[in-house]
Amino acid sequence: MELDRVRAEVAKAERVVVLTGAGVSAESGVPTFRGGGGAAVWRGLPATTLSSAEMVASDLNLVWEWFEYRRGLIASCAPNPAHEAIARWQTRFPGFTLVTQNVDGLHQKAGSRDVLELHGNLWRGRCTRCRMVAELPETPLGEIPPTCPACASALRPDVVLFGEMLPPGAFERAAQAAERADVFFVVGTSAVVWPAADLPEIAARRGAFVVEVNPEPSGAGGARAVALAGKAGELLPEI
Ligand code: NAD
Ligand code: ZN
Repeated sequence: MELDRVRAEVAKAERVVVLTGAGVSAESGVPTFRGGGGAAVWRGLPATTLSSAEMVASDLNLVWEWFEYRRGLIASCAPNPAHEAIARWQTRFPGFTLVTQNVDGLHQKAGSRDVLELHGNLWRGRCTRCRMVAELPETPLGEIPPTCPACASALRPDVVLFGEMLPPGAFERAAQAAERADVFFVVGTSAVVWPAADLPEIAARRGAFVVEVNPEPSGAGGARAVALAGKAGELLPEI
């Protein structure tokens, strides 16, 4: 059966890459965008309008209020067995890379280190003037917008908003890991949007064994990839 095949590949793997999306946090109670949950529309505005560079320029306070709402939701969420299994894997293989599209910080909360964050992190701000990055663990924030510890200008969320570029080098580092992977996991992401779609393709082309873990597999990684249909929090600990 598929799970045994995956186990056999994982047992002999030296380099493992895991790419995660919103689905890995679904069992922690974090709403996915496409899964609804009230987070896709807030005060009548779609997330695509709220989370945009235009809104940062025109109404930074509104952007922060929306992020405060999301930070508040996520502050009460704990890592689930999928995050925990992935955190254990970092010491199981000679080479391990975790790449996430999530901004919730739950991988780090579960103990993962050196997480390659493609879309930034809700718990950090970035200066609109000097670009300094500051940790913002407290919720609610004392002031909106929070200010830069270096130059006192307004911080914006250190998150990639709709229409913005990825942090410099993030995709390149993820692609490098994908090129060298023996096993590449795609967990909880619909993998239709760049770069999520490209990374398993890159890995598959270089001969990696690609495994998708998703209750509704999207076909990531092409025809030779294996799909484990189910919840990440149930399947990953079994692997
Ligand atoms: P997405 O496109 O990554 O889709 C979510 C996927 O998760 C779907 O394919 C769904 O079938 C799958 N899924 C649902 N429950 C699952 C489970 N228990 N185990 C495994 N897979 C499961 O995510 P999206 O919500 O459409 O978001 C698009 C972008 O926004 C991504 O960058 C995403 O990471 C980001 N986002 C992040 C968070 C977060 O930080 N937790 C939340 C919402 C959105
Ligand atoms: Zn500054």
